[in-house]
Amino acid sequence: MADAAGAHRGGAAPGGDAAPAGFRSGFVAVFGRPNVGKSTLVNALVGRKVSIVSDHPQTTRRRITGVVTLEECQIVLLDLPGFQRPFDSLTRRMQTTVDDALEEVDAALVLLNATESFGPGDRYIAHAVAGTRLPAVVALNKIDLVDAKRLGARLEEARAISGQSDVHPVSALRGDGLTDVLASLAAAMPPGPVYFPEGQQSDQPLELLVAELIREQALRRTRDEVPHAIAAEVGSITERTDKPLVEIEASLIVETESQKAIVVGKGGRVVKAIGSGARREVEAILGVHVFLDLRVKVRKRWRRDDRYIEHLL
Ligand code: GDP
Ligand code: MG
Repeated sequence: MADAAGAHRGGAAPGGDAAPAGFRSGFVAVFGRPNVGKSTLVNALVGRKVSIVSDHPQTTRRRITGVVTLEECQIVLLDLPGFQRPFDSLTRRMQTTVDDALEEVDAALVLLNATESFGPGDRYIAHAVAGTRLPAVVALNKIDLVDAKRLGARLEEARAISGQSDVHPVSALRGDGLTDVLASLAAAMPPGPVYFPEGQQSDQPLELLVAELIREQALRRTRDEVPHAIAAEVGSITERTDKPLVEIEASLIVETESQKAIVVGKGGRVVKAIGSGARREVEAILGVHVFLDLRVKVRKRWRRDDRYIEHLL
């Protein structure tokens, strides 16, 4: 896994800004089982989409960094990739990911789900976080889906499992309770530099963000038919000088001809819908018209090709 926090901590901050006196900043790992709402929360805190959201577990393939800059504080959120298997099976990989992340951050944001009972994954995270001296902020998400009585009981359980007296009830989807979460995170930040210039909300290159937005639309529109065999790759992004238009060439990569037929759809209907959905998302972020040339390609067994996966990441 790339050492995102370490890389920024190393040389000068990308913005190069000297830290104003009293400025605080730090890296926060966002922990929680798949589907608890980590990506939704990071996007809501950042105020724009940096990470894709989906009902499929393990949608986040890369570690996404979302940056929140407040007046006297900068919070860099690491939205961790999903784990290979359901969290309850507690794979070694999951444990390693949690342990590694804990070593390179200044605080942890632990997200629990108000609608499901807690499992060994939740307990492992709570335990691992408690075993460090890192400040932890705990939030109980999806409270829009439970009634007041159940919420009280779930908050109590969340306090018990996390060992924290302060658990924030939130709805990342609706934006409820987020100000308090941000305030708690801000209070947990040590003195530090301005890692990212104001206005920069992610460290992801635009190519990666666009590829992720395309992949999100593809997952949404093919559902369980082509589960995780889809990758997206952006070939070029060109800003036209004669008019306000950005031209993007991109491909969706699948493993077999039959998957390609599904992703293309009858008369190209599916790939067109994927393309226009992604185009609208990119236009909303860039604030300019976008022309997206999206093709579907077959690359046999790309998921077993380590070099190809390296190249995608
Ligand atoms: P992640 O796997 O933890 O990153 O979870 P995602 O952010 O991708 O969200 C998983 C699913 O839960 C998506 O369908 C989200 O729309 C949904 N979701 C996230 N937060 C909330 C919330 O506060 N309320 C409700 N009702 N749904 C949510
Ligand atoms: Mg996610």
